[in-house]
Amino acid sequence: MSGKLPSQFTTVDVGDSTFTILKRYQNLKPVGSGAQGIVCAAYDTVTGQNVAIKKLSRPFQNVTHSKRAYREFVLMKLVNHKNIISLVYAFTPQRTFDEFQDVYLVMELMDANLCQVIQMDLDHERMSYLLYQVLCGIKHLHSAGIIHRDLKPSNIVVKSDCTLKILDFGLARTAGTSFMMTPYVVTRYYRAPEVILGMGYKENVDIWSVGCIMGEMIKSVVLFPGTDHIDQWNKIIEQLGTPSHEFMKRLQPTVRNYVENRPKYAGYPTEKLFPDVLFPSDSTEHSGLKASMARDLLSKMLVIDPEKRISVDDALMHPYINVWYDESEVNGPPPHQYDHSVDQKEHTVEQWKELIFKEVIDFENRDRQNYGGVIHNNVGGASSITEETGGSHQKRQEYGGCV
Ligand code: AMP
Repeated sequence: MSGKLPSQFTTVDVGDSTFTILKRYQNLKPVGSGAQGIVCAAYDTVTGQNVAIKKLSRPFQNVTHSKRAYREFVLMKLVNHKNIISLVYAFTPQRTFDEFQDVYLVMELMDANLCQVIQMDLDHERMSYLLYQVLCGIKHLHSAGIIHRDLKPSNIVVKSDCTLKILDFGLARTAGTSFMMTPYVVTRYYRAPEVILGMGYKENVDIWSVGCIMGEMIKSVVLFPGTDHIDQWNKIIEQLGTPSHEFMKRLQPTVRNYVENRPKYAGYPTEKLFPDVLFPSDSTEHSGLKASMARDLLSKMLVIDPEKRISVDDALMHPYINVWYDESEVNGPPPHQYDHSVDQKEHTVEQWKELIFKEVIDFENRDRQNYGGVIHNNVGGASSITEETGGSHQKRQEYGGCV
């Protein structure tokens, strides 16, 4: 970054990365990394709370990164549900649009992601409670018009008290057209047949992913670990069987040709795929929490044809899940509808940079009074707006007003 670092920021090395953060955040420790960047746990000296801070490095570096960062940002502000991660704060250490490089997202800190939890021996209570919360979270997203399509264990985080939050908002409606060169390997194991085969989809596309996660909790291995879409489709049909003619008729001609010419598989019954020995002992407290019920739910979720797959509402009513049913969690107030035109918009990298910058500045300004904010928030050194940051702050205000 060019120029002097404003006094309320400090620089900390975390692994290969450098975090330039507000001094109020201390004790940084890396807790994970994803396609967008590194995530650290930190202690917020102002609120006395632990937080997670995600650094988005040059989120506008290409159109794919930009769209994703912008979409996530807008959605995180829109959505308000206990099973979806919420944004506590966002800031950038760069003072002007020209210098603008990085965005830091401050979120609630959770203890682990679901990949780590899947490896543990979960009893029925924990398994069904985790699945119930995933379903509540996706139902809330659906009520905002967001169909995720890319739910996976690395994007779901949990606390030791078994509470759970979904971290991201999945694929944009136009995601299929974007191409990204990245060293980060995208996990596709949890994507539904209709996504793999490029078909239309509805809300229960997300049920497939929940089924894959549930199956993995039981088996401790990924159910359909394809090296690519073709390999993955083979893994699906080998286990679940070749889908019906009705399903084939709904495929695009070239895809249909490929799918129809695969060897035919009968598939295995759910009892064979998930035998009793894999399950924990039946619950003594809840009659619905037993292997046979878990298997019944799995057999309704892992259905290739979405027309025959269980819906989110019916999954929430299933005896394996509905022990936790709470109207305020299942049908909380819906958020504002998401404006999908964001996904369709084509912008240059420079325009995305402007849009993202404006969102960050809006956030800093919006929360300046009730949260402390960048300008007034000098844990390590007292400085006033006019003395230290007045000029550039004004620039930002003007900029923010004209995008
Ligand atoms: P992401 O960049 O959002 O894909 O996150 C990458 C990883 O960082 C996740 O798989 C989690 O292990 C971890 N992580 C992200 N956000 C949080 C959070 N709020 N609390 C705890 N860990 C997190």
